[in-house]
Amino acid sequence: MPRILIIEDEKRIARFLELELTHEGYEVETAFDGRSGLDAATEHEPDLLILDLMLPQLSGIEVCRRLRVKSDVPIIMLTAKDDVSDKVMGLDMGADDYMTKPFAIEELLARIRVALKKHRAAAQLPAEILTAGCITLDPTSWQVTVRGENVSLTRKEFDCLHYLMKNINKAVTRDQLMNEVWGYDYYGDSNTVDVYMRYLRHKIDEPYHLKTIHTIRSVGYLFSYEEE
Ligand code: CA
Repeated sequence: MPRILIIEDEKRIARFLELELTHEGYEVETAFDGRSGLDAATEHEPDLLILDLMLPQLSGIEVCRRLRVKSDVPIIMLTAKDDVSDKVMGLDMGADDYMTKPFAIEELLARIRVALKKHRAAAQLPAEILTAGCITLDPTSWQVTVRGENVSLTRKEFDCLHYLMKNINKAVTRDQLMNEVWGYDYYGDSNTVDVYMRYLRHKIDEPYHLKTIHTIRSVGYLFSYEEE
């Protein structure tokens, strides 16, 4: 059975989750602060993480950021308040999904199943290295190079570029990008997509005098390789 690590400082919630998830047949481990949670995640390599954002020692955001350097374990964040900026930051740090407390346990269980399934499916696909002109994107190492130079991208920037490059010379809508990169249930502002396209232009197009991220009016975006 998949192993799930719960990092949650509210012991009442942690115990409740532990009980419910054990009942579902998962193997469960709990940690009550960010630092011991990060240690447990690193040492025991669970199959999925349930990560509270407001944690002592090390915040959930920071746990997520540090973990993502070396692991693609699915992470479902728990947020205490309906704080959009926290969610966006968490997702940007590489969390896969989030739930706002209080939540229905059935919904969390459903999301756990989806996250595990998605992760398994992704693990089975051969990670194809994509190239366009002088740009190379390697999904396994999360590396992007332009003319042989490493370009440092955040996880979400990387995912956006990955999706665009997979659909090279095809227009993709903002909704497609939102679904693909931020998740089926992310009801964020679709301006988020525009913001990320600006980041990508700033990191890929401008410094290397390329034109790759094209705006398609009233549709979305299209990736094609052009040198200026
Ligand atoms: Ca908390």
